[in-house]
Amino acid sequence: MALRVLALASEAFPLVKTGGLADVVGALPGALAPVGIAVTTMLPGYPAVMQAMGAAPQVLALAELFGGPARVLRGTVAGMDVLALDAPHLFARPGNPYVAPGGRELEDNGTRFAALAAAGALVARGALGAAFDVVHAHDWQAALVAAYLRFGPLPRVPVVFTIHNLAFQGHFPAWLFPLLGLPAEAFALGGLEYHGGVGLLKAGIWFADRITTVSPTYATEIRTHEGGMGLDGLLRGRGGDVRGILNGIDDAEWNPATDARLPARFSAADMAPRLENKRALQRRFGLEERDDVPLFGFVGRLAWQKGVDLILEALPWLLGSGAQLAIVGTGEAALEERCRGAAAANAGRIGTVIGFDEGLARLLYAGADAVLVPSRFEPCGLAQLCALRYGAAPVVARVGGLADTVIDANEMAVAAGCATGVQFSPVGVEMLGAAIDRTVALYRQPAVWARVQANAMAADVSWARSAARYAALFHEVAGADA
Ligand code: ADP
Repeated sequence: MALRVLALASEAFPLVKTGGLADVVGALPGALAPVGIAVTTMLPGYPAVMQAMGAAPQVLALAELFGGPARVLRGTVAGMDVLALDAPHLFARPGNPYVAPGGRELEDNGTRFAALAAAGALVARGALGAAFDVVHAHDWQAALVAAYLRFGPLPRVPVVFTIHNLAFQGHFPAWLFPLLGLPAEAFALGGLEYHGGVGLLKAGIWFADRITTVSPTYATEIRTHEGGMGLDGLLRGRGGDVRGILNGIDDAEWNPATDARLPARFSAADMAPRLENKRALQRRFGLEERDDVPLFGFVGRLAWQKGVDLILEALPWLLGSGAQLAIVGTGEAALEERCRGAAAANAGRIGTVIGFDEGLARLLYAGADAVLVPSRFEPCGLAQLCALRYGAAPVVARVGGLADTVIDANEMAVAAGCATGVQFSPVGVEMLGAAIDRTVALYRQPAVWARVQANAMAADVSWARSAARYAALFHEVAGADA
């Protein structure tokens, strides 16, 4: 019989998405079903979620949940078994799930997500019938479920807690604690207390049975002082309970042979049409239409983490080697302005589109020769996986999941015929510049470049391997044989 897993998260594609977390939560149920794991996904009943649930039936009513009545609806949405926590006093607000218009964090985020965790614990223990075998909690918003299960009545359902980005920790003032309904002993160094306040991510790390993050290298980095963001000691203390499991992408959804949004479809066996996409990309970004120039791209949040400033500072290398650059992204106003400025100052060589545009991102992956991912830290990263799949060589900082998913075209890897991209380290302007030069040199050797491109497209970026790893971990904590 399938192992029953209750996934608890604040977002899931396609219902609600602000980042990569939603992609992972949305993809895992489909990836895990073939390996004998039945996932039910519980989400806050934001307006978009309630709308997607339609006429789904109510399966649980709670007279009082953090200041008002709540109920749980159950329905099938986009192939997922979804439980929506309908608590209008907490979740019936338009717009972004975490911040109010104007950019301020919602003041009651602590109780909003404690409510998700508390209701999740009830459901896990069997409020809908049979108890679940395992809870899979994602990020700080769901972390407290591990505390509720630890201190609540039996059965104590085991918890796997996945950290998608250690930078978001869910810190709140100490006044939150008495509202949570946990015993006083939980507010301790070995518990929720964090620098005098409440740390929800910290509580998840403390109370969960296993902690995973989204790549093996990031799992190592977060146990160091440099990468631990204040939690490295605690993570080191968990020893072998901390694991790294790579994210994948949906390789049916991301398939250059069938992608209807591309001007031209192509595959590893038929690369010729790819050139159409490069030309379309050049036109769309106001670049000179030339087949023989190396075209670099960037897709992502314009933020310090992503190293966009390094790209702008490395322009002398890029322009000096005769390359072009296309940027699509949104984020910090100052970086948006600098990206626009770079395009204005280098018409025909650099193009910038500010915005979140899925079609343009796909065109970029399908048309660029190489995609720059110079992140200062990167838990897993999806951009380089999309680039591999669409035949654009990723040029990546050797950090986190970027280190684990790209095979650097060093001399031995080229000789062995297994390179898929270029890595550089440490993360800085000179090393990025050198990586750009190295990429252009590879591009100028057509046979070598064709091999790198073919290897990139052959790389397995699907969920298959990682789904098997999650399945093994769920069996491990459930004490069941796989
Ligand atoms: P993050 O830290 O933002 O979650 P990831 O690399 O894990 O970074 O995931 C980002 C995903 O969002 C990628 O699939 C990327 O293609 C997509 N993306 C980022 N910015 C944009 C944009 N401006 N337009 C379209 N897609 C974008």
